[in-house]
Amino acid sequence: MNNTREVEVVVVGAGQAGLAGAYHLRRTGFEPERDFVVLDHSPGPGGAWQFRWPSLTYGKVHGMHALPGMELTDADPERASSEVIAEYFASYERTFDLRVRRPVEVHAVREGVGGRLLVETSDGDWSTRALINATGTWDRPFWPRYPGQESFRGRQLHTAQYPGPEAFAGQRVVVVGGGASGTQHLLEIAPYAAATTWVTRRAPVFRAGPFTEDVGRAAVALVEERVRQGLPPKSVVSVTGLPLNDAIRRGIEDGVLDRRPMFDRITPEGVEWNDGRLVRADVILWATGFRAAIDHLRPLRLREPGGGIRVEGTRAVADPRVHLLGYGPSASTIGANRAGRAAVRDIRRLLAGRPGEPVAA
Ligand SMILES: Cc1cc2nc3c(=O)[nH]c(=O)nc-3n(C[C@H](O)[C@H](O)[C@H](O)COP(=O)(O)OP(=O)(O)OC[C@H]3O[C@@H](n4cnc5c(N)ncnc54)[C@H](O)[C@@H]3O)c2cc1C
Repeated sequence: MNNTREVEVVVVGAGQAGLAGAYHLRRTGFEPERDFVVLDHSPGPGGAWQFRWPSLTYGKVHGMHALPGMELTDADPERASSEVIAEYFASYERTFDLRVRRPVEVHAVREGVGGRLLVETSDGDWSTRALINATGTWDRPFWPRYPGQESFRGRQLHTAQYPGPEAFAGQRVVVVGGGASGTQHLLEIAPYAAATTWVTRRAPVFRAGPFTEDVGRAAVALVEERVRQGLPPKSVVSVTGLPLNDAIRRGIEDGVLDRRPMFDRITPEGVEWNDGRLVRADVILWATGFRAAIDHLRPLRLREPGGGIRVEGTRAVADPRVHLLGYGPSASTIGANRAGRAAVRDIRRLLAGRPGEPVAA
């Protein structure tokens, strides 16, 4: 018996990018459940935001852009962004009747029959003419490997498991990573911890001056160029540098953000450098970022020898049926919004059999 259901578009992921895509599908006449489905493996609305630590209040997120077509108004900056954004996404899904199916795990996307793609999920298979992949990065925390790592007697955790600063009270904490998460963790943990040490592979670059549109645009262009070449995307922060805001300035003055180069090995008691320096630690917190959660696309063989997927706009160069949203240059809330519109425009051309031809927006 073949239970494969047919649609025009499958959207995988109901974070900012997937919802933006679903909104534009709806707006241009696609009916949910008849023409497209949105599948997400998380328990509730909110994309990755639902998992972010409670101390990441709405007031601390920098530049969360609203989803297309509905503002996020009157949010209390003191409330956890995980709650604020989960509620906002839930209301968005209801307002636009997006009917997200969850929890549904997408295991694999492979070549189907008749030029269609086959999407294999925990809730049966879907056959589709186009795919909007918007699976973000949260499910693929990146843990670098260092000698001796398994021998460490303390606790190791990643940003993805960060529980908030109180959990580190009285402990000696080594934070690894020079991005926004690493610095935020340090600034939060320092008042509670017995000691903190900050290590990064490359010396952090601080950016003084406002984050103007030009700075943002230049950063996005750099990431875009990498993706065009089929290289793994970098985060936008890695190319903009860290904003030298008041909190960071204070952290530098207080010595909390006193960076040391990367250690050479991990010992049962802590971390050690080749010059004999040793820092004893109870916890190593890896704030070492995330990678694109796209393992389920492996059967399509989209990866280039450089390790990334070549993308033009949002379309995978190797397979025009596949769009990657929230990947590379669109891995920000504003980028995800734009990508949603661009992908749907492109998919409408594909489905109309007119790839490359403009359609009315
Ligand atoms: C700590 C942190 C703070 C940030 N702060 C900001 C900020 O202040 N401003 C800003 O613009 N950006 C910020 N970003 C980046 C921003 O969160 C993202 O760019 C954007 O929200 C990601 O949206 P997304 O839809 O691409 O991914 P996500 O929100 O991760 O959504 C992906 C969805 O896909 C689902 N999924 C994944 N794999 C599968 C699968 N195999 N099957 C089914 N479902 C799957 C997940 O359940 C999830 O719901 C931050 C990122 C981090 C990590």
